[in-house]
Amino acid sequence: MAAGKSSQDLENDVLSQGLCTSCGACVNVCPYIKVVKDKVAIIEPCGLDEGKCYDFCPRTITDIAALDKKVFGKTRTDSSLGSHISIEMAQAKDSRIRSRAQYGGVVSALMEYALNTGKIDTAVLTKPFYGGLMPKSLLVEGGTEVEEFAGSNYIASAPLATLNRNTKQSKGEAVGVVGIPCQVIALRKMQASKHENEAKKVKLVIGLFCTWALTYKGLYEFLKGKVDVAKIKRFDIPPPPANKLIVETDTETREFRLDDLRQFIKPTCSVCFDMTSEFADISVGMVEGIEDWNTLIVRTPEGRKFIDKAKAAGIIVTKPLEQARFDHLRGASALKKRRAVAEIVKRTGDDKNLLYLKLSQEQKKKYL
Ligand SMILES: Cc1cc2nc3c(=O)[nH]c(=O)nc-3n(C[C@H](O)[C@H](O)[C@H](O)COP(=O)(O)OP(=O)(O)OC[C@H]3O[C@@H](n4cnc5c(N)ncnc54)[C@H](O)[C@@H]3O)c2cc1C
Ligand code: SF4
Ligand code: SF4
Repeated sequence: MAAGKSSQDLENDVLSQGLCTSCGACVNVCPYIKVVKDKVAIIEPCGLDEGKCYDFCPRTITDIAALDKKVFGKTRTDSSLGSHISIEMAQAKDSRIRSRAQYGGVVSALMEYALNTGKIDTAVLTKPFYGGLMPKSLLVEGGTEVEEFAGSNYIASAPLATLNRNTKQSKGEAVGVVGIPCQVIALRKMQASKHENEAKKVKLVIGLFCTWALTYKGLYEFLKGKVDVAKIKRFDIPPPPANKLIVETDTETREFRLDDLRQFIKPTCSVCFDMTSEFADISVGMVEGIEDWNTLIVRTPEGRKFIDKAKAAGIIVTKPLEQARFDHLRGASALKKRRAVAEIVKRTGDDKNLLYLKLSQEQKKKYL
């Protein structure tokens, strides 16, 4: 989509502008780009005029209508939530999964089911804690492992770096990925690219809702001295109006005001246009005010088929999402878009220059 630019352009247009989301799409496609914790850096110019890195990045020109066409075969009619077939509430049936999960356990239950039934051979999932504060994305080959990945870490990992490296060696041909919206966009750009890459093996994309992620450095400095950072085993952000981050270690549970953490939000999140993983097969998030259910958005026909099978097999249960909650979700998603566009225009000083976003005139009018 944005072919014909080099890693130097990636440095100029994305990395040095504080726009990197740490998705990992540019990592492990060449030897010169590395990720350490949530920091991505080009360690040496590669000398090529045209890099896969620039092509895959979710913060280089991203034509929303073209991506809609590519993923859904049509342009969107819902400008706030993107293409979707259904929106409902859902919950994992298995209480063991629910007890470890972030909200209703739908993501873990679906990924376990996809691996157990052979819909996918492997999955790229993110373990919220891996011997420290950073999450780690790993390739999973058996359904029984999925439960260990339940829960959330609000620091961005680099799942697409794992996809780029690990699936090359794995025997499986069909891959599943769980990711936040910026990671899902990068994955879809990889699938749309003329360059061969591992994303072309991906057959199931479960996207998470996301309003922001925190930087490793900021969160580490904030928590250091308040909790034993090496022993954290769970984060929880209960649905609004709670407005708090709960941190559990082996020995204690502490609560922090979300307002005290906002200063550590990744800079790129302020220009992020997507709250609900609009390009996933299936998107999953919280339900406002309810702890143990998820909002489930089914977007593609493949996603619909898979959800119907999972329901018939007793893996998840669903029920209608009340109109008030639906309206709230749509409002929150539209607000994120308007804020992102306003922030971009504030940065560029020109409403014709939306940095990485390519929107039609009609779409632009809705958000400006
Ligand atoms: C950075 C971040 C911000 C989020 N912000 C919101 C929000 O604003 N509103 C909202 O409704 N929901 C948000 N979520 C999603 C939410 O926390 C749940 O992941 C989602 O609702 C699924 O719930 P579940 O019970 O089905 O998850 P589970 O069954 O517990 O599965 C969680 C899945 O999340 C994945 N995961 C965990 N940490 C990460 C990470 N850092 N990066 C990528 N994948 C990860 C794991 O692979 C696991 O498969 C956010 C998640 C993350 C990671
Ligand atoms: S591809 Fe992802 S990791 Fe690489 S520069 Fe772009 S946002 Fe950052
Ligand atoms: S807000 Fe957007 S850019 Fe930030 S972590 Fe979430 S999806 Fe990525």
